Amino acid sequence: DVVSVSVASLLTKLKHDCATPLPILQQVADAMSAQMRARLALDSPTQLAMIPTYVHNLPTGNEKGLFYALDLGGTNFRVLRVQLGGKQERVIAMEFEQVSIPQHLMFGTSEELFDLISSGLAKFAEKEGDKFHLPPGRTREIGFAFSFPVKQTSMDSGILIRWTKGFAVTGAAGRDVVACLNEALKRQGLDMRVSALVNDAVGTLAGAEYWDNDVLVAVILGTGTNACYVEQINAIPKLQGQVFPSGRMVISTEWGAFSTALPLTEFDEEMDAASNNPAEQIFEKTISGMYLGEIVRRALLRMAQVGGLFGKSVPQKLSIPFTLRTPDLCAMQQDNSDDLQSVGSVLYGRTGVESNLSARKTVLEVCDTVIKRGGRLAGAGIVGILQKMEEDSEGVIFGKRTVVAIEGGLYENYPQYRAYLHDSVTELLGMEKSNNLVIQLSKDGSGMGAALLAASNSMYM
Ligand code: ADP
Repeated sequence: DVVSVSVASLLTKLKHDCATPLPILQQVADAMSAQMRARLALDSPTQLAMIPTYVHNLPTGNEKGLFYALDLGGTNFRVLRVQLGGKQERVIAMEFEQVSIPQHLMFGTSEELFDLISSGLAKFAEKEGDKFHLPPGRTREIGFAFSFPVKQTSMDSGILIRWTKGFAVTGAAGRDVVACLNEALKRQGLDMRVSALVNDAVGTLAGAEYWDNDVLVAVILGTGTNACYVEQINAIPKLQGQVFPSGRMVISTEWGAFSTALPLTEFDEEMDAASNNPAEQIFEKTISGMYLGEIVRRALLRMAQVGGLFGKSVPQKLSIPFTLRTPDLCAMQQDNSDDLQSVGSVLYGRTGVESNLSARKTVLEVCDTVIKRGGRLAGAGIVGILQKMEEDSEGVIFGKRTVVAIEGGLYENYPQYRAYLHDSVTELLGMEKSNNLVIQLSKDGSGMGAALLAASNSMYM
């Protein structure tokens, strides 16, 4: 019949537009490598900001003492404290708390947001128990994991370039976020000092490096996305003349802004146009958790409107942006039952849609198509970074064991996405090279890494 033909052809078009065969993956990886190198060399504007983080000493395991961390990067912020005991004792004690950010503060003023953060920190600090010790006369030091694009000016300062991931806070862009935090700490009457400013990718790298020296790349795949890696100073022409004893520095690629060679659909374009950062963060909008559910919703809405996917009428809720979220796609894709009962109940619960079995199957195919593209493109991005590092000094990556640490709720919780990412890396590298490569979930989170960097960058050490 006419209706099902139409849905089928819409699905075919979607699959076609989202397809990521090997040549496209290779094009994405190559473009990523080329832009990384170009930006490091000339600092001419490319999609990738390639921000030098000033992190040149990664944690070694020898760090000792009490350190705090603040982690702001998405829907929640976390506060954390850790008592480090050096090489033998390692992490003696660690505690953290998570505070959700009320929606209105994502659109409020910088003062309101930083006041929320510092009061959360103050409440947490009050509960410091006797497992934690600060030598007399010292100030508590904080590692601040702040996961938005920042132009780092030193290890403990950086200018916010722009908000991403749905934040639209006024009065912070163009300012030093450590100064914003320090002012809020002062208003709160808290005597603490920020010793390290990092983004979540750098925090993840530092946290993973603490346990394993082969970690050279860290990737965030959560609400948003970013990647950072350890670069040789002599491969960073724009830093020549400055001395960093380790000879290395962590570079934050800010790859969310990448957009070359990506297979995009009309739904991506519509979502982008409706976003509060149109034409920005296209890679992020294609591969990260904030957006995948919304792309699927837009595709389903079109199928419902044009092809009658869910019958004659289109439930109003399906027209509301972000009613379908990435964890919903994940829940649906875990449904192995014959009648796809959970798919039906997620659809009904989220969008008010009543679905028959054939519609549910179509929904699953739409989810798979968008998730497959996301996971495979994320994999291509990772290969782009590894390829660039290998080209600049042969053997540094594929001649030995190399670890890529990945953090974020999307990678952690979505098995299909994870499998597509791994497939893509293996397809691109081939068996031999991928054998030496370990891609692993980082357990500790970026907050722990930020605390470790506060320790390795402590004013008392
Ligand atoms: P953030 O990136 O906000 O700091 P997380 O790393 O925990 O925090 O990532 C949260 C994101 O991970 C959510 O926005 C969502 O897109 C994704 N996510 C969380 N849980 C799941 C899930 N069960 N399935 C798929 N994606 C999930």
